[in-house]
Amino acid sequence: MHKTGYFTHPDCRLHDMGRGHPECPQRLDAIEDRLLAARLLDVVERREAPLASPELLELAHDRMHVAAMRGVAQEVREEEDAGGDGLVFLDPDTAMNRHSWNAALRAAGAAMAATDAVMAGELENAFCAVRPPGHHACRDRAMGFCIINNVAVAARYALERHGLQRVAVVDFDVHHGNGTEDILAGDARVLMVGIFQHPFYPYSGGNGSAPNMVNLPVPAYTKGPAIRDLVEKHWLPRLEDFRPEMIFISAGFDAHREDDLGQLGLVEDDYAWLTQQIKAVARRHAKGRIVSSLEGGYNLDALGRSVAAHVRALADV
Ligand SMILES: [Zn+2]
Repeated sequence: MHKTGYFTHPDCRLHDMGRGHPECPQRLDAIEDRLLAARLLDVVERREAPLASPELLELAHDRMHVAAMRGVAQEVREEEDAGGDGLVFLDPDTAMNRHSWNAALRAAGAAMAATDAVMAGELENAFCAVRPPGHHACRDRAMGFCIINNVAVAARYALERHGLQRVAVVDFDVHHGNGTEDILAGDARVLMVGIFQHPFYPYSGGNGSAPNMVNLPVPAYTKGPAIRDLVEKHWLPRLEDFRPEMIFISAGFDAHREDDLGQLGLVEDDYAWLTQQIKAVARRHAKGRIVSSLEGGYNLDALGRSVAAHVRALADV
């Protein structure tokens, strides 16, 4: 078996928050170009991300939030048809155009379809090249480029619809996954481990979180070796003890040293190493089951290289 899935959809490219926005459609092109050049598209199984059924988003979100986002999608179309610029802002950094709701349904749908395929044993693991990202989206609101929390929805889906008892969420984005924490804190069926620059947007995660949250806030300019030490000391023993039956990764690549949105110093090798560590835990306890979903990563070249290192490690090639 040992097959790695690659879930994506052209709709995810159509979500566009305006000229100059770092969370841009070209991110997916950069990933795809690099995977092609590295011949990794030959070793993964490409699958189309389906649209999530909106009811399933309520596994992680309030019904009101899902209805509100659907309402904004309608508002955007009316605004554009009336001659506007076709953008409605949800917060100062986060906007929807007429394609955003479909893109968000594809992004959450990718994580759930990948979960289905991994649980069915068709794939060992999967990477979802999707946008909008998800880890800042809280139970009741969009924020920080995120509309729906793809990983939190899929983690709950694995628990509720596939009957798993323990799932882990690993988040190595440069920003704290505050939305995932908002949704999953206190859910004893979930262990979340995260490392992020602190103090830094969204200025949470520094202290006092729930017992199922292992937060490792690190100062700006922390580099790979120090982060590997922290992961070995704090993440891996907790993951071993927890024995997750499946692992979700909030795969943000904005902690790369070339990424100007953050000030951490990871490089491609660090992403490969992190992926290998997660994979070893998954192989010991979870039949190798990993679903990884794209979060941040805004230097297009570094993003492509980092995703290639991540996918290469997932696929063991
Ligand atoms: Zn980020």
